[in-house]
Amino acid sequence: MSERWFRETLHEGIGQEIRVDEVYFESDTGQQALSIFGNRHLGRVMTLDGVVQTTEADEFIYHEMLAHTPILAHGNVESVLIIGGGDGGMLREVLKHPALRVTQVEIDQAVIDLAREYLPNHSAGSFDDPRATIVIADGMDFVRETDQRFDVIISDSTDPVGPGEVLFTDDFYALAKRCLAPGGVLVTQNGVPFVQMEEVINTRRRMSPHFVDMTFYCAAVPTYYGGIMTFAWGTDDKALRRTSLEVLGWRARHVGLKTRYYNAAVHQGAFALPQFLVEAIEAA
Ligand code: SAM
Repeated sequence: MSERWFRETLHEGIGQEIRVDEVYFESDTGQQALSIFGNRHLGRVMTLDGVVQTTEADEFIYHEMLAHTPILAHGNVESVLIIGGGDGGMLREVLKHPALRVTQVEIDQAVIDLAREYLPNHSAGSFDDPRATIVIADGMDFVRETDQRFDVIISDSTDPVGPGEVLFTDDFYALAKRCLAPGGVLVTQNGVPFVQMEEVINTRRRMSPHFVDMTFYCAAVPTYYGGIMTFAWGTDDKALRRTSLEVLGWRARHVGLKTRYYNAAVHQGAFALPQFLVEAIEAA
């Protein structure tokens, strides 16, 4: 029997292949080409426009690091805005913090519907949580038009091609900053620098003029090909990224946070950047 393989097309001349053991869904949503398939090692895998978005096996690393790092560094979050994140994993993690409200702005209703059907453990019921408000719109339009202010904004977007491209622009960073409450934090998924170094350089150039403190933190997510990935971090409160181990640990325990990757020590260590990144950021 011949095997079928998914070949990722994100990077020119280099990339990953995943065996397709079972196909659950494959079609165009009208916005993007969406496929959900099974792989013996990774569980269910969602791709958009030929790029891996999330897999059941390693999604916890990405979602925990983008959700809990800003929320626990801030320490007094009442409202969170998620942009993108249609698979629901980010909403699930954010809602582990009992006292906050979440608005999620996703451009493609079909991603939410299909993820609910075929990746139910990602959202784990969170789309039905009364603390969540789901808006189907372009995240760029939302930050341009809303009067709401948020303590944390999480950009859980696709890569900067297709509908996600606007979420990596100078305009987006300026408008997102306007939507932050005083002392708020913007975090964004920012690619894998070993193969997407231009994302670090462009984000540094475009985002840093809007924040007193703008840097990156890291984690390795196996199915984001190429090694460690960066998350961009922007806030006007310089103290947030120096929140002590004791305080982070106490805040996590206070909300009874259960995680598989994130903990206070990983949080602090994630801000230590390898030298090639330090130099790229300084030169940007
Ligand atoms: N974890 C993933 C990654 O790192 O590639 C991102 C996953 S999540 C599925 C990305 C979501 O961003 C998709 O559901 C996509 O529809 C959404 N999206 C892309 N551009 C958007 C935009 N301009 N506004 C709102 N959502 C957007």
